[in-house]
Amino acid sequence: MAKAKAKAKVETTGATHSHNFQAEVAKLLHLMVHSVYSDRDVFLRELISNAADALDKLRYEAIANPDLMTGDGELAITITPDKAAKTLTVADTGIGMSEAELIDNLGTIAKSGTQAFMEQAKTAKNDVHLIGQFGVGFYSSFMVAHKVEVISRKAGGEEAFIWASDGSGTFTVDPAPKETAPQRGTSIILHLKEDALDFLEDWKIEEVVRAYSDHIAHPIRLTVADQTTRQINEASAIWTRAKSDITPEQYKEFFGHITGAYAEPALTLHYRAEGRHEYTVLLFVPGEKPFDLYDPERRGRQKLYVRRVFITNDAELLPPYLRFVRGVIDSEDMPLNISREMLQHNPQVAAIRKAVTNKVLAELKKCFEAEPEKAAKIWDAFGPVIKEGLYEDMERRDQLFEIVRFNTTKRENVTLKQYVADLKTNQTAIYYLTAEDAAKAKASPQLEGFRARGIEVLLLTDAVDSFWVRMALGFDGKPFKSVTQGAADLDLIPLEQEAPGNDADEGATATLIAVVKQTLGDSVADVRKSSRLTDSPVCLVASDQALDRTLEKLLARQGTTDVKVSAPILEINAGHALIKALAENARKHGASPALGEASGLLLDLARVMDGERVADPVKFAGAVGALMQKTFGAS
Ligand code: ADP
Ligand code: MG
Repeated sequence: MAKAKAKAKVETTGATHSHNFQAEVAKLLHLMVHSVYSDRDVFLRELISNAADALDKLRYEAIANPDLMTGDGELAITITPDKAAKTLTVADTGIGMSEAELIDNLGTIAKSGTQAFMEQAKTAKNDVHLIGQFGVGFYSSFMVAHKVEVISRKAGGEEAFIWASDGSGTFTVDPAPKETAPQRGTSIILHLKEDALDFLEDWKIEEVVRAYSDHIAHPIRLTVADQTTRQINEASAIWTRAKSDITPEQYKEFFGHITGAYAEPALTLHYRAEGRHEYTVLLFVPGEKPFDLYDPERRGRQKLYVRRVFITNDAELLPPYLRFVRGVIDSEDMPLNISREMLQHNPQVAAIRKAVTNKVLAELKKCFEAEPEKAAKIWDAFGPVIKEGLYEDMERRDQLFEIVRFNTTKRENVTLKQYVADLKTNQTAIYYLTAEDAAKAKASPQLEGFRARGIEVLLLTDAVDSFWVRMALGFDGKPFKSVTQGAADLDLIPLEQEAPGNDADEGATATLIAVVKQTLGDSVADVRKSSRLTDSPVCLVASDQALDRTLEKLLARQGTTDVKVSAPILEINAGHALIKALAENARKHGASPALGEASGLLLDLARVMDGERVADPVKFAGAVGALMQKTFGAS
């Protein structure tokens, strides 16, 4: 987990060590202190979640180093309200923090996280619910506290330290007085604001814990009047329970804990695998995109447990194109003392990855077939990511082809199976058009001939499309073919209505083509008659050997050095009135300066229709201006 952290600045003032918060944190704290959020409860959830993480970390570390458990042996979270002092303390017996970690973890943050959180907090109208997702949950304590103290002793550490801040620009970190120091772990002491004193009431604390943290697998205790404690959560790992004993609310709560986003999961997968490997799977497909879906450093995908002991967040239990799937896999038969490094080459992990990937794809397929509305939602959020699998996971390409869906010139959310069921007579290929967005795609002149024949064309508007479609061999024996590439071989497919211009003079057209080709020289690879066009006079296509034009442009834009945008083929619509007139002129007079100029304009028109720049804007403007003058008879 690579958190880019800037060092906080240290100033020594007398006995206390004062530090400035990183600027980003200061901004976030200002927001926490001054905004009026309606969901202030979330602070408790965030502190409990951090405490549970700390307990998990200790339990894992103690496998290799049992001495760490000395001191207070029990792993638990204790919540203690103190009405007289107006403090609420959340204490854990977990891994704890050293002095340096207190400064680092509670003074700086991964930049992307805060920035992203502040942006969404602005737009989502004071919705602070998602804070945990951004890795800044701790700071939510300042919604309810005017001062926060954190006393912590790292497991195995000699000394304890106390971190304190009132949420303005600075915090202090000092050695903790002996009498307050815990034997191990962390106590967070919140000095509550006057308007947050209800968090000192037992019923309020229990209500919040029940709502958000019931599933935490460690006991959560509430200190009641006379220093005795009472456990207030279920404290059993939810995935170990029978499906029939778990309510949708409990699944939702656990999903919230896993993702930090408290929303409804779109899909829940809970099962136990038995046989050569035994493990329990509880995975969710979220209903919405997380903010860092495309962040290469995105952390915490699926959690690996071994017999209820948390091992790691990044065992890569699913391939990257399923990185939006979140949850837990708990192995019964893996060794507990497996190091995180060894996981990469562990055959059991590989076997689990394979089986669970297949299961997730099967569930997606089932859901997509049975629940079109949900399918559309999931596809909308994660479709472009799932499509990465089409070139990253060749082995499962056919499985993925059963899941992916497309918008086409005729319909939305179409599967390939549905597409091929609707082929026209003599249609042998699956036609597609890649473009930056749907509007541009639909306006492409290259589609005209396909429309006139009633042929459906897939509109591929995601960046990943250009990559997989080039490598995919086809579906159901039909190759994928770009409508902007190669000869369209459309002539074999009958037109639905008779197109104009079948009366074009073949000889005259051939002469025009020769003149245009000669004039344009190297700027085009070829000039030829088109069967793609019905309404537009011209269009550009790529030759069969070249890359698809959209991909070529994409790669050139990304600065891929060895890709040069190759000269396109100019296709002309022999039936178009303008082309007919030019052909007639060519037949009568052969090459002429006027026809030469018209040839250049034809190429520029085709470029403009493809969203490109004309070769020479000044010349183009001059030529169009001259034509208008002629039409309107100005002298
Ligand atoms: P996140 O939990 O997403 O990392 P937080 O803002 O909630 O973000 O916490 C920041 C960091 O502070 C944690 O990653 C952890 O390293 C540390 N931390 C917070 N609370 C505790 C705790 N109770 N015990 C140990 N470390 C903690
Ligand atoms: Mg946290």
